[in-house]
Amino acid sequence: MKILVNQITESPKDLTFTEGIEELNLLYGEERVRDFRFPPLVDVRLAYYRSGRELFFHGSIGGTIEGYCSRCLKSYSFPLEKEVDFVLTPDPSSVKSKELNRDEMGLSFYSEEEINLAPFIREQVLLTLPTRPLCNEDCRGLCPGCGVDLNEDPCRCAASQRDPRMALFRAMKLDQ
Ligand SMILES: [Zn+2]
Ligand SMILES: [Zn+2]
Repeated sequence: MKILVNQITESPKDLTFTEGIEELNLLYGEERVRDFRFPPLVDVRLAYYRSGRELFFHGSIGGTIEGYCSRCLKSYSFPLEKEVDFVLTPDPSSVKSKELNRDEMGLSFYSEEEINLAPFIREQVLLTLPTRPLCNEDCRGLCPGCGVDLNEDPCRCAASQRDPRMALFRAMKLDQ
């Protein structure tokens, strides 16, 4: 979604739209382990207004994200529900105003006549992600010995030690 800066007024306006976030999948592809899979679109509701040259955005993002559990390796879905609040201020490199440190101030800059909200929405979505994907806080994961999903089956380590086929299977896995 793009908004013209000169159409942002002091009285808040509401906006409902869907934003494409699929390119986040590229960010998580290739070299990094894929922990999450993002939907093509998320729903966004925003109220926006200006105070002087600063632009304020407040609202929420909703959607469904797929995660890959770091313990049992299964995929699971979780709802994305995030309140968003961000302020855009004129880029100081183009305005030559006082120095602003983006990290300290929690501000982002704009320098165009038209603001593309997509990068801000994507950034907000990334901020909602858990540091480690878990299908469930209590997920018991896979047994490192027999590979059984301990959420579904008991560990077979003791049994497999007596079973020559399982011993062979374990050896093959170790070779990989
Ligand atoms: Zn799990
Ligand atoms: Zn086991």
